[in-house]
Amino acid sequence: MIIVMKEGAEQVEINEVAAKIEKLGYKPHVILGVERTVIAAVGDERSKAVLQSLESIPGVDKVVPILQPFKLASKTVKIEHSVVKVGGVPVGGNEFIVIAGPCAVEDEGQIVAAAQAVKAAGAQLLRGGAFKPRTSPYAFQGHGEEGLKLLKIASRETGLPIVTEVMSVHDLDLIAKYADCLQIGARNAQNFSLLKAVGQSALPVFLKRGMAMTIQEFLMSAEYILSEGNPNVILCERGIRTFETATRNTLDLNAVPVLLERTHLPMAVDPSHGTGYWQYVEPMAKAAVACGADCLMIEVHPDPKSAVSDGGQSLKLHTFEALMKNIRPFVKAAGRRL
Ligand code: PEP
Ligand code: MN
Repeated sequence: MIIVMKEGAEQVEINEVAAKIEKLGYKPHVILGVERTVIAAVGDERSKAVLQSLESIPGVDKVVPILQPFKLASKTVKIEHSVVKVGGVPVGGNEFIVIAGPCAVEDEGQIVAAAQAVKAAGAQLLRGGAFKPRTSPYAFQGHGEEGLKLLKIASRETGLPIVTEVMSVHDLDLIAKYADCLQIGARNAQNFSLLKAVGQSALPVFLKRGMAMTIQEFLMSAEYILSEGNPNVILCERGIRTFETATRNTLDLNAVPVLLERTHLPMAVDPSHGTGYWQYVEPMAKAAVACGADCLMIEVHPDPKSAVSDGGQSLKLHTFEALMKNIRPFVKAAGRRL
């Protein structure tokens, strides 16, 4: 249920409603909107009718049910699009945001060169994996904490905040010491204990869609994070697995307008994993901008042919620079700035 407060409701009234919600055995989430405040009461769906009694409290306008199974992610609780700040960079606002960097952090020279080049080309956030989810246990697994230290060096050199993947609850505290944003990868998008753990973190979360997840399941995963009290979730479409083998995945750009209709959360698109081939990254990046995405995540490597992971889908530094120039007219046409 959501408790919609009257316009200009006082803080004491909001606090009173939140306290009553808790007394009734529900968890209150206060969502401050531009015009009015709403309080979402989430918990057992079966007895939610008891919340109707809150309508008699001064300051409350009405109590309405949230019909979707994803509650806090839904547009019912927040009609305005959310802006999630990553190390001060606003994702979801008027500015179009690009997260760029290598698939994996390999060595200091590689990550610093990538960071400097993507920064010069206009990217606002740096990516790089220190803990890598690999299909084969014999493939490079990432440098772990050493990789996080190298990311920090590159971040200090450039001023770019860091987005990096957390694969397990076990590594979360360590990664949180270095990262500005926690990435949950496609393979962990329904790892519910990990989702709950990042939901208790103070850091924003970059949630990738699982490769066999429906849009509704994707939103339910976001709901796990939100329901633990972390409102800062960015969704990322990164391609789903289909019968098609010409590309690594099928980048489901349908998901962008569907999600924009159903949720207030900011939307990113990753055309690198979505296509698997560097030459398709720019056209799909343009398409992502055109259909309403707030953000792109793109893999960039100083020397893709020597990359330890995802070299074939990584852009060279100058190819990334060209992409940034070439997406500008699309960004402008979409009514955004870059
Ligand atoms: C990545 O970003 O390098 C990655 C492993 O992505 P995904 O989880 O989307 O496969
Ligand atoms: Mn990758």
